[in-house]
Amino acid sequence: MTLKHDGVRPSDRWRDVARATGLLSPDGTARATIFAEMSALATRTGALNLGQGFPDIDGPDAVKRAAMDAIAGGVNQYPPGPGTLELRAAIAAHQDRHYGLDVNPDTEVLVTAGATEAIAAAVLALAGPGDEVLTLEPFYDSYAAVIALAGATHTTAALLPTPDGFRLDETALRAAFSPRTRIVLVNTPHNPTGAVLTRAELELIARLAVDHDTLVVTDEVYEHLVYDDAVHVPVATLPGMAERTLTISSAGKTFSFTGWKVGWVCGPAPLVEAVRTVKQFLTYVNGAPFQPAVALALGLETTDDAEAGWVHDLASSLAARRDVLGAGLEAAGFDVVRPQGTYFVVADGAPLLAGPLASLGLTDGAALCRRLPELAGVVGVPVSAFTLPGSDADAALRTCVRFTFVKNEDVLTEAVRRLARLGR
Ligand SMILES: *Cc1c(COP(=O)(O)O)cnc(C)c1O
Repeated sequence: MTLKHDGVRPSDRWRDVARATGLLSPDGTARATIFAEMSALATRTGALNLGQGFPDIDGPDAVKRAAMDAIAGGVNQYPPGPGTLELRAAIAAHQDRHYGLDVNPDTEVLVTAGATEAIAAAVLALAGPGDEVLTLEPFYDSYAAVIALAGATHTTAALLPTPDGFRLDETALRAAFSPRTRIVLVNTPHNPTGAVLTRAELELIARLAVDHDTLVVTDEVYEHLVYDDAVHVPVATLPGMAERTLTISSAGKTFSFTGWKVGWVCGPAPLVEAVRTVKQFLTYVNGAPFQPAVALALGLETTDDAEAGWVHDLASSLAARRDVLGAGLEAAGFDVVRPQGTYFVVADGAPLLAGPLASLGLTDGAALCRRLPELAGVVGVPVSAFTLPGSDADAALRTCVRFTFVKNEDVLTEAVRRLARLGR
């Protein structure tokens, strides 16, 4: 339907968001995101969907029961604005226990509608027109949208594949800082690359943030999903950084309850207050019966209860599943960068496009992804969904595809069996 009245035309800001997320072509026509396109393709073709990253096994039963008990027990009305004190205290205890971070549950913790809202409220509260928000690239897709919503400018520093995994390019990082950089939005462990930033990489970010007097906002939703000998280092633990850092995480990935949307942000009281003020008018509050359940989950994690060690076991099982899918992708002819954390592996299809699939004339990851269901019965997402068109990272990762391994092992085994067709 075409709109005939100027008064019902969408705003320019909506267009900025749509453009920043690829929902709007440069010529102004609307289109589906590549995520929606790939999920629809999986449904239509019956291909195994390794595109979207959500677990097919739910989190601990005791935690589910706590949420059901809360509903039955009448925890169904608005919780307190900053989140229940019980959950804020559990988050503060978690930060202390794992990282030695001292946060005051009354003034330095805010419960949000998932990490997504925490990121949105933080960017809206702390950046605006004229400011630059610097992210790693590739980046989680909501970043570009919310930076556009804030009217700020999105700048990036590339993570590029090396023999040692995806690593931060120091020259690119230094060059990406400017006098207008207001926030450095750091995601580690990193989606889509699976990189866990090293202490040295984070110290470099910290030094540049201090030199340019910028805030740091960290997205640590995969903080417990790290493999091998990788160690997750929160930026707030680096000397002098707690005072300029907002740390964001969520229950979704840690406890396999991605649909619950309970997240949080911790940091200095004045910054948390600014975020709370914005959050108050985005959702006000969320997830009343899930809050006591997540408080329980955060506590169980370190007790001798039967569920203790659940998160640790999840990480071990994910590391094993990463190995299954990684080996299968390699056998099929992809160049695989071994991820150290998260749900995801990035595989470069270049050897296939130039080799066994050369006759198809495919030139990039998006084209490969559109043909993968028919060629191999699986669906992935091109890494170009996480880059800015024309950037260095976009060029370097043009033929790369992101696959998730947070699926049952038999699904992954079947995916590997099907992928083996590709190299033949
Ligand atoms: C899944 C994900 C989120 C969203 O977390 P929610 O708690 O579901 O809002 C944020 N950042 C990254 C990098 C993610 O992968």
